[in-house]
Amino acid sequence: MTPNKPVSITDYTPLVGQEKIEELLRFGEELKGLKLQQINSARFGGGVAEMLLSLIPLERSLGLDVTWDVIEGDPAFFTYTKTMHNFLQGKPGTLDLLGAKAYWETNRRNYPLVNESADAVLVHDPQPAGLITYVPEAVRRRQKWLWRCHIQTSREVCTLMNPIRPLIELYDAAVYSSTRYCTWGTRSFIILPYIDPLSDKNRELTEAEIQSVLERHGIGDLDEKPLITLVSRFDPFKGHAYAIESFAAVRKERRCQLLLVGGTASDDPENELILSEILEKTAGMEDVRVLNLPADSHRDINALQRASAIILQPSVKEGFGLTVTEGLWKRKPVIAGDTGGIPAQIADGYNGYLINPGEAGVPEMTERIIFLLDNPVIAREMGRRGWETVRERFLITRGLWDELMLIKTMLQHP
Ligand code: UDP
Repeated sequence: MTPNKPVSITDYTPLVGQEKIEELLRFGEELKGLKLQQINSARFGGGVAEMLLSLIPLERSLGLDVTWDVIEGDPAFFTYTKTMHNFLQGKPGTLDLLGAKAYWETNRRNYPLVNESADAVLVHDPQPAGLITYVPEAVRRRQKWLWRCHIQTSREVCTLMNPIRPLIELYDAAVYSSTRYCTWGTRSFIILPYIDPLSDKNRELTEAEIQSVLERHGIGDLDEKPLITLVSRFDPFKGHAYAIESFAAVRKERRCQLLLVGGTASDDPENELILSEILEKTAGMEDVRVLNLPADSHRDINALQRASAIILQPSVKEGFGLTVTEGLWKRKPVIAGDTGGIPAQIADGYNGYLINPGEAGVPEMTERIIFLLDNPVIAREMGRRGWETVRERFLITRGLWDELMLIKTMLQHP
């Protein structure tokens, strides 16, 4: 499948300036024809797919020969990898032997996806990490294998027991989103994630476009009741319950509405359960909407973020939090958990607010929401600063530069 729209790197010049674009074009000249294979476990849904959909066309437009493959697995495999994901983020769980069997069988079965003529293979997250064990020695010597970790690996877990560490140590390098995380691998690099300002998720929309999305979802009355929005997969770490609890307290004092926008990802078996818990919690609550949208609802999410007065992301753990970046890019103040990659994006009180992750953050969230509702001029200024933060640090052109530099470094220093 061909990811995303046709793009040219020069389309980004008005946002990032000529100099950065020329640097990328020179990089493209240096790496022209390089064969890079990207492998993950979902074509849509979640932050990894979101970034690859935009990154790969840009890498191709610079002259790299990039392919993108997605491993396939059955529910037993994805249940096991989600347990591992949660475990690595610090949630206790049992990694059962049957699940481990499904993990290895699935990775073995998917091995034919591996392009043995690629110069570099970039594997995302734990699901396809096991592929490396099936590479024949002669092929392995020719190729660079890089593992990209998008999750917030908890230090407590690493020091206790770690099911994935020996695997990651087989890679030439591992890439993380923060130095604060537990890192493994012979060499580790940090690359902060990014958003594509020209994608359907993030491009500017007209008032009419925003309005039509609101009407389609039956959301109105925004002047009377400003919209407070949380966009996230239905996942135990995203903090939906805290947002609901805080909103219930805010609504007693101010007129507003809560929108919980989520979806499912094909590699995430927990979504249905968490969604039903949310529906149960919000049943009978006034001014709360839960939208379960298809995975390709990028423009709708863009419009809903733009229509919001405040964006919430009260995560307990968060590898990076592209939803925070997206909210800041829409010029919204973002109130989010002080965890994982979120403090790299939000300076407390400057472009949003950091709150304690978990139950302890609920009173703070309530107080901050009320403050922002009461002070729209401050909220607007915070939003403007948020946009500027993203423009300077979290756009795809920077992510592209980082990835190309990583590959160049690895190829030059065997
Ligand atoms: N997302 C989406 N639909 C949803 C929920 C999330 O398109 O129903 C997108 C969201 O806009 C963001 C990405 O999925 O681009 C989530 O990335 P993030 O880093 O916030 O979290 P992850 O899901 O990777 O843990």
